[in-house]
Amino acid sequence: MTHSLHDFIRRLPKAELHLHIEGSLEPEMMFALAQRNGVSLPYASVGEVRAAYNFTDLQSFLDLYYAGAAVLQTEQDFHDLTMAYVRRALADNVRHAELFFDPQTHTVRGVPMATVFAGIAGALRQARAEQGFSSRMILCFLRHLSEDDAFATLEAALPLRAEYADLWIGVGLDSGEVGNPPEKFARVFARARELGFRVVAHAGEEGPPAYVHGALDVLQVERIDHGVRSEEDPALMQRLAQSGMPLTVCPLSNLKLCVVKDLREHNLARLLRAGLCVTINSDDPAYFGGYMNANFLATADALELSREELVELARNGFTAAFLTEEERRPWLDELQAVAAE
Ligand SMILES: [Zn+2]
Repeated sequence: MTHSLHDFIRRLPKAELHLHIEGSLEPEMMFALAQRNGVSLPYASVGEVRAAYNFTDLQSFLDLYYAGAAVLQTEQDFHDLTMAYVRRALADNVRHAELFFDPQTHTVRGVPMATVFAGIAGALRQARAEQGFSSRMILCFLRHLSEDDAFATLEAALPLRAEYADLWIGVGLDSGEVGNPPEKFARVFARARELGFRVVAHAGEEGPPAYVHGALDVLQVERIDHGVRSEEDPALMQRLAQSGMPLTVCPLSNLKLCVVKDLREHNLARLLRAGLCVTINSDDPAYFGGYMNANFLATADALELSREELVELARNGFTAAFLTEEERRPWLDELQAVAAE
C-alpha cells in the first residue's frame, strides 16, 4: 500500500468507541506501578510480559489482563493509566473516545469505586481542558460474574453519578463471552435503561449470533461490541444493516485472540460492504499490538480498503458515538475536508 494512503489514514479525525482503559496498561507502566505500590508480578521483566502475549483465545488473554490490573491501586495510578492512553489516542488523531472501565476488577481487590472514578475522570477532564480531547465513560459489568454482582456494582456507582455526569453515560458488558449469554443480565440492563444510561454489550466475538440477537432483544443495546460472528446469520445481517446498528469491530484484537488466523480473512470489509455501520477500534491496545492507527493501517492493507471506505469507517465512529448532532458536526466537517483533499 502506498505511503500516501497511510498518511491519509493518519490525518483522518477519529472516534474510538471500544477501548478498555485497563487494556491500555503497557508492560512498562505495569512494572512501574508494581514498584510504586510494592506489588509482586508473576513476570521478571517487561520482556517476559510481552512473551506472555501469545494468546490462544479470549480466556488466555483475560488471565494475563486480570494479573496486570492488580498493579492499579490508587487514584494516581488510574490517572496515569488514562493519561497515557489519551496521549496515544491524540497521536493517532482520535478526537473522541468512549472508554470502558471494569470496576469489579478493582473493587474485588479492595480498591474503592470512588478511587477508580476519580482517577479516570480526573485525567479525562484534564485532557479535555488542556487538549480539547472529548470523552465519555462506560461502566462495564464482568459477565463471568453473577447478575447480583453486577447489580451491586451499579448500586455502588450510582452515588457518584451526579459528580461524574459529564462523563459517565452508559453501561456495557464484557469479559468471557461463551457460556455467559446476554439474557443472564436482563434485569440489571433493564434497571440501567430505566435510569437513563446508554447501553452496549460485547456480543458475537467468540459467542454465536444468538448472543447478538439476545443483546438486541433482551438488553436492548444501542451498539454491538465486536459482532463479527453476525455474518453467520443472514437474517441478523439484514437486521443490523436495516437498523443501522453500529458494530465496534477490533481487527487486531480478533487477530491476536485467534478469532481470525490472518487479517486478510477478517470480515470487516464484507460487513461494511453489506451496509453495516462498522467502526474500527483498538479494544485492549497494550495487549493486542496496536492503537487506533495501527488497527486502521493493518486493516486497510490486509483488506485493500479504499479511501472512501476508510472515510466511511471514520465517519461511522462519530455517528455511532453517544454525542449530540451539534457535538459531532465539527469533526464530520473536518473529516469531509480531509476526504476532499
Ligand atoms: Zn472489548
